[in-house]
Amino acid sequence: MSLTLSVKATKVKPSSTLAISAKANELKAQGLDVVSFGAGEPDFMTPENIKDAAHNAINNNYTKYTAASGMPALKQAVCDKFERFNHLKYEPSQVVISNGGKHTLMNAFQAILNPGDEVIIPAPYWLSYPEMVKLADGVPVFVRCDASQQYKITAKQLEDACTDKTKAFVLTSPSNPTGMVYTKEELEAIAEVIVRKDIYVISDEIYENLVYDDNKAISIASLNDEIYKHTITCNGMAKGYSMTGWRIGYCGAPKDVAKAMSSVQSHQTSNPNTIAQHASVEALNGPQESVELMRQQFDKRRLVMYDRVSKMPYLSMLKPQGAFYAFIDCHEVIGKNHKGTVINDISDFAKILIEEYLVAVIPCADFGFADHIRLSYATSLEQINKGLDRIEECLSNLK
Ligand code: PLP
Repeated sequence: MSLTLSVKATKVKPSSTLAISAKANELKAQGLDVVSFGAGEPDFMTPENIKDAAHNAINNNYTKYTAASGMPALKQAVCDKFERFNHLKYEPSQVVISNGGKHTLMNAFQAILNPGDEVIIPAPYWLSYPEMVKLADGVPVFVRCDASQQYKITAKQLEDACTDKTKAFVLTSPSNPTGMVYTKEELEAIAEVIVRKDIYVISDEIYENLVYDDNKAISIASLNDEIYKHTITCNGMAKGYSMTGWRIGYCGAPKDVAKAMSSVQSHQTSNPNTIAQHASVEALNGPQESVELMRQQFDKRRLVMYDRVSKMPYLSMLKPQGAFYAFIDCHEVIGKNHKGTVINDISDFAKILIEEYLVAVIPCADFGFADHIRLSYATSLEQINKGLDRIEECLSNLK
């Protein structure tokens, strides 16, 4: 034996979004006025009632372990929320509370995948899905979904991608990075394929609170009894309640899947943070006004972002329907010359933007779309306008 790393670990790519944020923070620490469009987290404070619940939990000495899969009061709050918000009936035994939405997804893959099982992931995708699937010994299978189809997979594409090794399909609505939301009709067509092919759908609904205009976040499991049995409905507290650092995720799943996920979690992490669980009970059961106020702020920023980017040369984007991301097609920038430097790919463009204009954007090669960037509008209108001014200036220097 020698001191080598596991093949699995060496195949995992580090998260490039976290790397960009780190670079932006490093420049900020040097005193530079960086505008960061990298954030995958709301810029609002966690609402007061939620923080108070955490203080109360500490003061009342709720500081010990809970059941590994989460405390009963939170599981019940999750079941009530599923019923109220998603028209979904889950019992507490079908719910697992985990250390963030990421952990929920990872548990789900670990619970259902055997080595070599294929998982269909529509591209563009959130960059962690393929790495999670690989960590769980599965094989990610990508299906490219263009702007002409709003970056959403069609039932036909899903059907065509299925093989006898397909075990699951990942659905993200509202989507990171595209901001698109699937309609009921689209979900019904997809659900029909999933049930017929007898595969799981991992439905990542973490941005469900953030939808705009007439768009609606619909849980695919709520469509009928058959699709319900095939769905692992994944969610978390991070985005809707501005609780990214509290690390609470949850799911509703068929009983056997939930049981397997709890067993996996019981050995890997035990229960998620007890104080954060108490805070999450308040978040789900308490007043929801702050969620709506945050959504309205995001909506205003979304419109500014969309209006301004749509008028810029070389760039194009679809109007986001949910989440807090602008997904921007930059293919016209590739091959252009910026002050003597040729832009060969989107990473070059992102590098110029951060180094010369102090604007951090996310190049989307790791999201499966190499000629796009993602701009998060989880930052103030002032910052958005300042950052967009700088991007405009950069574009005016392209030849
Ligand atoms: N799912 C999607 C699509 C996300 O964008 C994120 C975070 O960026 C998560 C899940 C995980 O969120 P967390 O682990 O912070 O709860």
